[in-house]
Amino acid sequence: MNLVIFGPPGAGKGTQSKFIVNKYNLYQLSTGELLRKEIINKTPLGSEISSTMNSGKLVSDKIASDLIEKFISNNEYKNRLIFDGYPRNEIQAENLNKLLSKYNQKINLVLKLSVSLDIIKKRIIGRCVCSICGKIYNEFFNPAPVNSDCCASRFLQKRSDDTLDISISRYQTYEKNIKPVVDYYNESKLLKVVNGEKQINEITNEISGLIEGIKGWLCVITQYNYAGNLNS
Ligand code: AMP
Repeated sequence: MNLVIFGPPGAGKGTQSKFIVNKYNLYQLSTGELLRKEIINKTPLGSEISSTMNSGKLVSDKIASDLIEKFISNNEYKNRLIFDGYPRNEIQAENLNKLLSKYNQKINLVLKLSVSLDIIKKRIIGRCVCSICGKIYNEFFNPAPVNSDCCASRFLQKRSDDTLDISISRYQTYEKNIKPVVDYYNESKLLKVVNGEKQINEITNEISGLIEGIKGWLCVITQYNYAGNLNS
């Protein structure tokens, strides 16, 4: 089973993807996280893309496509991918279909998280990530536990593009490009819109229901687990 999850920056794609990964034994492919790692590791690609990312614009379609192909072509992730942050425009949506069919796969479900700009601003300004376990918190809505070893305040980090100005620019970039992606997946009847303004656990429950509503979903997941057990 392969899923796509998209929505504006701060919509909760990363938070929800992590739940789905754990519950259904899938793999989260976040293009944003992969690109940020390139910058942190000071690779040639990282220096090429850092100013684009810090202005809230998209990196080139070619760079994003090369990143995702590495995962789609890897048997370990076959039919286990959650695309978080890809596709972000029509060219990428078409490219994703081409790459998946090249490796005999398809998308089973597309989730769109909708959230208004006002809420996005608060979510982004308050967002912090535990550098130890990767858990995502929000200073206003979902603060990290006070007496925790792992997620103590000294381990919490902010993303460099999580400022008010850059978040507005990222939101505008999202709005400008996403309409054809929505139409594309609407036509293929894969799209489900989820209200991303609800409580985290309510959204998770709704997404679980949608996944379990996919025809043959249990079979796909059991097949993977069975193959995984055989291989281990
Ligand atoms: P995200 O972590 O999804 O908010 O992405 C952070 C930044 O990474 C974006 O603002 C873009 O600059 C870049 N990025 C992530 N995914 C893509 C993509 N599919 N295509 C182009 N740029 C991307």
